[in-house]
Amino acid sequence: MSRKILIIGGVAAGPKTAARARRLDPDAQITVLEKGKYISYAGCGMPFYLSGQIHDFDHLYSTATG
Ligand SMILES: Cc1cc2nc3c(=O)[nH]c(=O)nc-3n(C[C@H](O)[C@H](O)[C@H](O)COP(=O)(O)OP(=O)(O)OC[C@H]3O[C@@H](n4cnc5c(N)ncnc54)[C@H](O)[C@@H]3O)c2cc1C
Repeated sequence: MSRKILIIGGVAAGPKTAARARRLDPDAQITVLEKGKYISYAGCGMPFYLSGQIHDFDHLYSTATG
């Protein structure tokens, strides 16, 4: 029977934990719960979005610029 892993929070630490857990246990059933609207975005980039330097919020999901 596969291991069940529940992760609370899906912005920075949660997805990182899920990815690490997947590498350690390819058969695990991993669930990430996020109470907010967005998952795995760059919160650190929020000031750039709010200041208008980044115009598209979706760019906060990407490691590429532009
Ligand atoms: C404006 C800003 C700029 C920043 N700049 C930098 C920077 O330049 N460099 C740097 O290293 N760090 C920076 N940080 C800090 C960095 O964003 C945080 O350290 C990082 O986001 C922490 O990640 P986390 O996953 O631990 O927590 P969070 O990002 O806070 O994620 C936790 C998530 O858990 C969810 N959650 C909580 N309780 C529940 C529940 N009961 N059920 C479901 N979901 C739940 C929340 O909705 C939240 O989305 C910045 C932060 C901000 C706000």
